[in-house]
Amino acid sequence: MPRRVIIVGGVAGGMSAATRLRRLESDAEITVIERSAHVSYANCGLPYFIGGVIEDEEDLLLQTPASLHDRFRLDVRVDCEVVDIDAAAKTVTTRSMIDATQHTLPYDQLLLSPGATSLRPPIPGIEHVRSLRTVEDAESLAEIVNQHPRSAVVIGAGFIGLETAENLSHAGIGVTVVEAAPQVLTPLDAELAVLVLEELRAHGISVEVGVGVTEITEDGVRLATGRTIGADLVVGAIGVRPDISLAEMAGLAIGPLGGIKVNDAYQTSDPNIYAVGDAVEKTDAVNAASSLVALANIANRQGRRAADHIAGRAVRPAPSLGTAIVKVFDLVAAMTGWSERRLRAAGVPYRAVHSHPFNHATYYPGATRLALKLLFDPDDGRILGAQAVGREGVDKRIDVIATAISGGITADGLADLELAYAPPFSSAKDPVNMLGYMAENVLAGDCDVVEPTEVAGLVASGWTLLDVRTEREHAAGAIPGSRNVPVDRLREELVNLGPGPFLVYCEVGQRGHTATALLQDVGFEARNLDGGYATWDAARRALEVVTATASNAIRRDRTDVPTRGERDSIEAAVLTPGP
Ligand SMILES: Cc1cc2nc3c(=O)[nH]c(=O)nc-3n(C[C@H](O)[C@H](O)[C@H](O)COP(=O)(O)OP(=O)(O)OC[C@H]3O[C@@H](n4cnc5c(N)ncnc54)[C@H](O)[C@@H]3O)c2cc1C
Repeated sequence: MPRRVIIVGGVAGGMSAATRLRRLESDAEITVIERSAHVSYANCGLPYFIGGVIEDEEDLLLQTPASLHDRFRLDVRVDCEVVDIDAAAKTVTTRSMIDATQHTLPYDQLLLSPGATSLRPPIPGIEHVRSLRTVEDAESLAEIVNQHPRSAVVIGAGFIGLETAENLSHAGIGVTVVEAAPQVLTPLDAELAVLVLEELRAHGISVEVGVGVTEITEDGVRLATGRTIGADLVVGAIGVRPDISLAEMAGLAIGPLGGIKVNDAYQTSDPNIYAVGDAVEKTDAVNAASSLVALANIANRQGRRAADHIAGRAVRPAPSLGTAIVKVFDLVAAMTGWSERRLRAAGVPYRAVHSHPFNHATYYPGATRLALKLLFDPDDGRILGAQAVGREGVDKRIDVIATAISGGITADGLADLELAYAPPFSSAKDPVNMLGYMAENVLAGDCDVVEPTEVAGLVASGWTLLDVRTEREHAAGAIPGSRNVPVDRLREELVNLGPGPFLVYCEVGQRGHTATALLQDVGFEARNLDGGYATWDAARRALEVVTATASNAIRRDRTDVPTRGERDSIEAAVLTPGP
């Protein structure tokens, strides 16, 4: 008798599972139940539809029930929701969203991919807030946008919040982003996140960080500071939580973070019920603990692997790195693994290196700078995380590093990667190779770098700040209290330098490394500033943002307002300027 498989949720995880299972088992009876009117839609494209970048809604609808039946013989039921699961009897009850008729369907295996639900904190007026999760949400937001509202507030400066803000702005609407954390894009460290904040402001988006929303009215929002921001439209994008309603119905175990608990083969506590995607807890790739990550790549991969297991194949454990990317106007930000803030908060030992390479050879027209950061274990060089912000080439670098992490390549091992090169694409030493060189220098003890957070302490204890950039660069902006001796004159000036010790810096760290090596060679104590003035200055600007928002009286009546400890840890992640 053919296997009867019911899949709940017909988008990322659910549809990947359904089509993979069909390829593995031609005779399985596969039924997909989907509450909305659409299956297999590109929810990641929804922000671009409301802004008009994607003009035709049809482009977001990748398949239809009919096309899925024709190609895969899937029984896809849209406008239909699962309202009950009887795990003992192995049946689900469905209800039509159109006429409320109910059916009970038997299964041999059930796969849940119900996704996540938007967080909606109990703020007065929350009913005025629009969400963006489904095609229907996007349709209704697009309708509002077509009525040409003048102003909008987006609550939440995460990935979806920023994509929504950019697209509303693209549609000619004046946008304010309000974020309770003291920075945008909290998975990034502050000195990289500030670059994204500056990009938003440069494109006319008003950004309020470090302040919660306390009330929403038909005319706008009220902030914890008491200020009100008028808005014709308020969109909420403050995060999601796993949708565990079906799992609770079936009596399945829930993990410590509130997602469905699954094993490495995506079986729940009932071996005949699988669960994948945003609804489940993942195993974190850095510390092997439970984690919640809501990303499409993970949902698709898990759907495929769950189908493999249903079909009797062995499944390898695949921990989650949280590799993610977002476009914010002309800038791109991406990350994989853990941030420095998270490592520090968890007490995980790490070393960080920053670099600011060009995305490709500078002699080829159009080269632009990247800001890169690599975090690794100081003992064995295991890569713990990486972040990148820039205009081009961000995706490639983060994907290479994510691949390296998955393959067990260490930070110094990045130096030996053989990566594609021609002048329009990269440099003979790719920025990822360069991060490898830097990590190698740190791990081998060849170059002892100083983080921007350490500058003030070293200066206070008598270290001389030595700027080895050109006089012109120094005049354009320097760390207060530093002495300028360009690297090319350093040999002649050695006798006039004084006793040291020296904290050396240049623009991005490279000339500083050369100068530090020279100083050490002739007997001085010297350390190089990681990432140079560019990183120090970004950290200073991030601190300015925190300082500007510190005066905001944050009321503690929202679940997403950062605690004092969180605020402290972000402040500690940025620089205390030198004297
Ligand atoms: C606007 C937006 C932009 C995004 N952009 C990105 C991006 O750029 N990159 C990225 O990696 N991720 C992005 N994501 C996240 C990504 O879409 C999700 O991680 C992914 O879709 C999760 O897949 P899933 O199968 O777990 O759930 P979903 O794809 O959300 O599918 C769940 C489906 O289950 C259905 N369902 C739930 N309960 C029932 C029930 N009882 N009966 C029947 N059907 C039910 C729902 O209607 C829903 O259609 C974005 C998400 C949104 C909303």
